[in-house]
Amino acid sequence: MIEVQGLTKRYGPTTAVEALSFEVRPGAVTGFLGPNGSGKSTTMRMIMGLDRPDAGQALISGRPYGELRWPLREVGALLEARAFHPGRSARAHLSALAAGGGIRSARVDEVLAAVGLSDVAGRRAGTYSLGMAQRLGIAAALLGDPGVLLFDEPVNGLDPEGVRWIRELMKSLAAEGRTVLLSSHLIGEMALTADHLVVIGQGRLLADTSVRELTARG
Ligand code: ADP
Ligand code: ADP
Repeated sequence: MIEVQGLTKRYGPTTAVEALSFEVRPGAVTGFLGPNGSGKSTTMRMIMGLDRPDAGQALISGRPYGELRWPLREVGALLEARAFHPGRSARAHLSALAAGGGIRSARVDEVLAAVGLSDVAGRRAGTYSLGMAQRLGIAAALLGDPGVLLFDEPVNGLDPEGVRWIRELMKSLAAEGRTVLLSSHLIGEMALTADHLVVIGQGRLLADTSVRELTARG
């Protein structure tokens, strides 16, 4: 469960997020929908403790990110502008994360297989295509087997096969009972993937609704 309670963030004169509140429940894909610049990344960064809110708070399983004892085991995130060292392999990246996060090392090969990178796990990340880098970012998010997952625009730059793969992955993570928050500016993709929608515009909540309610007739 993620609880966003009155989050507000300003950058100088720009209000990126304004008094935003919503919940993300387990067992469903919650789509976080809004146009570019509407505040989705800023919200996710505040949930992950990377940006300090000017007001409000975000809780993961009842605690702020900074109070989680084993963060990687509680929450995984694929955020925009993630950086991988170009000279290090996918396996090296994940092994270092596992070692620092209290995660058994055998888990590295499991997540590499889960994202389809086993065959290229020894290659330098700098040689990866955008799609492969995206898969590595997802592997990092899944590494700690967390119950809460955030994905910021994961389908950006992917080919149709990659987009379908992400869609199925999101659904299967939710079916396992995890809490999944998926941001996108693509309304059509969200209608196909999400069970629940949180819609924002200019940092403010516009709608918080199940997709079934939106599409039900009669
Ligand atoms: P989205 O993820 O929906 O595209 P963002 O959260 O990235 O939206 O941005 C929301 C608003 O905050 C935009 O107006 C953006 O320009 C501004 N913004 C985001 N990060 C920064 C920053 N580090 N410095 C200044 N302005 C920022
Ligand atoms: P409850 O009875 O505790 O409110 P329900 O599962 O019956 O829980 O759902 C009630 C409302 O909660 C519905 O309007 C539904 O859209 C909303 N909801 C369901 N899943 C989520 C979610 N992932 N995030 C936020 N709200 C949700």
